[in-house]
Amino acid sequence: MDQKQYDYAIIGAGAAGLQLILKMIHEPFFKERTILVLDRDDKRANDRTWCFWEPGKTKWDGLATHIWSQGKFINNKETVDFDLRPYRYKMVRSESFYRFGKEEVQKAGNITWIKDEIVSIEKQDVIGEKQTYRATHIFDSRIPQEFHEKQDNYHSLIQHFKGWFIKTKSPAFDPGTFTMMDYRLKWKDSTSFTYVLPISETEALVEFTLFNDQLLMTDEYDQYLRQYIYKYLDIDSYEITEVEQGLIPMSDYPFHTHHSKFVTLIGTAGGWVRPSSGYSFKNADRYSTMMVENIIKGKRPEKGIGTSRFRMYDSIFLNVLSARNDLGEDIFTRLYTKPDIQSVFRFLDEESSLAEDIKVMFSLNKPQFWKAFLQTFVR
Ligand SMILES: Cc1cc2nc3c(=O)[nH]c(=O)nc-3n(C[C@H](O)[C@H](O)[C@H](O)COP(=O)(O)OP(=O)(O)OC[C@H]3O[C@@H](n4cnc5c(N)ncnc54)[C@H](O)[C@@H]3O)c2cc1C
Repeated sequence: MDQKQYDYAIIGAGAAGLQLILKMIHEPFFKERTILVLDRDDKRANDRTWCFWEPGKTKWDGLATHIWSQGKFINNKETVDFDLRPYRYKMVRSESFYRFGKEEVQKAGNITWIKDEIVSIEKQDVIGEKQTYRATHIFDSRIPQEFHEKQDNYHSLIQHFKGWFIKTKSPAFDPGTFTMMDYRLKWKDSTSFTYVLPISETEALVEFTLFNDQLLMTDEYDQYLRQYIYKYLDIDSYEITEVEQGLIPMSDYPFHTHHSKFVTLIGTAGGWVRPSSGYSFKNADRYSTMMVENIIKGKRPEKGIGTSRFRMYDSIFLNVLSARNDLGEDIFTRLYTKPDIQSVFRFLDEESSLAEDIKVMFSLNKPQFWKAFLQTFVR
């Protein structure tokens, strides 16, 4: 039994946990505090490719594999090119992020990193398979069991996808432009599309993605990828250099109800995934900054995180897509082909004004939205 009492224990050194640790390392307030990091994994594998938009150059540029300023949206009727500037769309591979995070942790001197599978938390005790740890405050990235058990009470979809990093012998891509969504190839009447991230003239990540409630068999994703690459990218010879497969919960489940005096949930477990988009890497940046500021000011770490106005929009959105999954193409076409993509990014980043939100919601202009809007108030 480890008798040492740490000031902070962070369970999970993934996108959220590691960003929180990095924020703590750079704040003098935490220099004299003891921090324990617990993860069951070594965090070496390249298990995900994070992409996100943000304005201008930031600290992430140094870790980014590729950055785009131009994007496109495609459906059977049109191809819409958009200029993201001042935003840039950045790709950070997880192995670069984990390596960088671990190097910073080593340099810090006040952080202990232990590999252990955490089983439960009892007040301020974190019970691991190897031992029990005690901390004044605990940050937890494990998704609450109740989320899985109570899915049916909420609007929930799954963003699930499989992607291939492919390499061609001759130039086949424009590395200056990525494809946010291409709806020309769909799985039945679902919200499904292909996402293409060219990182050079001969390399790209091509991902077939669905926002629905039905996972596919592994070879079904493969079939769609093969078909897309052949038919729409016009490539018949390539090598698959890496595979990425995953799922992201998109739900209006109230994750915040699991915060307590001693425990704050972070990352997917804390509701940091924007339910309408599945993006959360940038939220982890934003929210861990807010948490560190709150701690320094003596407030509860989670104070002010996730405003109810945006939760309501997400709930409406999930309500519509759960009832009419076939509407996804039309909804996203209306969203991403607006002349001002920057206002959409601000909306998805929860940085838009109420007037901008109303504009975005009106632009979707579907009766199903107004119905879902009314249902939100009578729930
Ligand atoms: C393949 C994939 C690609 C994605 N791409 C994007 C993207 O492009 N952009 C974007 O914004 N979002 C993306 N996401 C969504 C989201 O950003 C990621 O899921 C993100 O990693 C979530 O951060 P997290 O810290 O909550 O979880 P994770 O990064 O999964 O970290 C959780 C950590 O907790 C540890 N852990 C879990 N349970 C225990 C336990 N019992 N004991 C000890 N340790 C434990 C895990 O080992 C892990 O290290 C993607 C997700 C996936 C799966």
